[in-house]
Amino acid sequence: MAVKSYAYNDSTQLSPHFNVQEFRCKCGGTHDILVAEELIQKLEQLFAALNCSKIIVNSGHRCSAYDISIGGYGGGQHPLGKAADVACYDQSGGRINSKLVCCKAQGIGFGGIANIDSSYTATHLDARTSNIWYGNEVVSYNTVTDDFYKYYGIEREVGKEMAGIFGIDVSEHNGSIDWNKVKAAGVKFAILRAGYGRELNQKDKFFEENYKGAKAAGIPVGVYWYSYAESPEDAKNEARTCLQIIKGKQFEYPIYFDLEERSQFNQGRAACSAMIRNFCNILEDAGYWAGLYMSRSPFTSYCEDDLRTRYALWLAEYGSRLNYEGAVGMWQSSDNGSVSGIFGNVDTDYCYVDYPAMIKAAGKNGFVKTSEETVSVAYPDKITLTADFGNGVKYIGTANRV
Ligand SMILES: [Zn+2]
Ligand SMILES: [Zn+2]
Repeated sequence: MAVKSYAYNDSTQLSPHFNVQEFRCKCGGTHDILVAEELIQKLEQLFAALNCSKIIVNSGHRCSAYDISIGGYGGGQHPLGKAADVACYDQSGGRINSKLVCCKAQGIGFGGIANIDSSYTATHLDARTSNIWYGNEVVSYNTVTDDFYKYYGIEREVGKEMAGIFGIDVSEHNGSIDWNKVKAAGVKFAILRAGYGRELNQKDKFFEENYKGAKAAGIPVGVYWYSYAESPEDAKNEARTCLQIIKGKQFEYPIYFDLEERSQFNQGRAACSAMIRNFCNILEDAGYWAGLYMSRSPFTSYCEDDLRTRYALWLAEYGSRLNYEGAVGMWQSSDNGSVSGIFGNVDTDYCYVDYPAMIKAAGKNGFVKTSEETVSVAYPDKITLTADFGNGVKYIGTANRV
């Protein structure tokens, strides 16, 4: 997880709904502000999951001194820049009950979650990845539950939570696609196969055509790379090949590592997790928003816990519901959908995260960061040049701009 440091007066827009100023320490000093990227990603997911009108950050980063002054020990998640105490508001401006916020935050994969006040309107959230802590500070600082739904007696609304926006994923096997018809059919995004394996000649034969067609029709796109990696090291080769093929293009959705070969699962959980990590980290280092595509069942067996919320997650499970309660960005619900403009069956997907807004705001996938202002440099007409040889010999002169 990347924790970034910002100057006290920096007002970078971190994501569509969060500005770095909201995370300033309240000690009265003017020190730098620490904010973890993963905290912001999760807060955006929470914003969408609760259909918020706004989320107010009451306390974000805290220096050690301030943390201690308000009863902390000076080294927790707030001083690390990984925590936010928030109040969430619904569409009519009312505060959303913290019990519900805790439940949704659990589904999104926050590592530390706690109700803070007896009126149940404020919630502590943090992005720790080990020693998961689900608390209720009104009762005790110690862990109170392993499941907020159970603890607060709130029913899971699986069906409702699954209502995302509709999209498809395609490869050369779908043949030539009439993207204008696809757009007219209500498809809101498309994930394109860019290729498979480690060789450049394994590029998907319709990748260029699909990219051009979807973009021309105004359909935002992402990419998946079908892996045949034989080892974690080999996954790095696949990442490098993928990078060459997607170079120079812009993607509103993540670049997914597609892990589904039996021979790969046979290598076990540690090897599969290392393949995922190796591929995704190379993509991230190159400025891409990396993701993982797996079927739900092998995902729960072959993906280590800390990776489950580490990258954008796209799970496949065919049927009327996805039987996974953790945070998921996208669900592939079928491989036999029918969409006008595509001959034969097509894979259908639902997306629950506003990836286009997040990816553009973060300046990933070929986009330029939207929050950065253009700095205009003023060039004067004349400058003075000096050369000092340190032995008493000096030259001074004026140079004119030409
Ligand atoms: Zn401070
Ligand atoms: Zn807190």
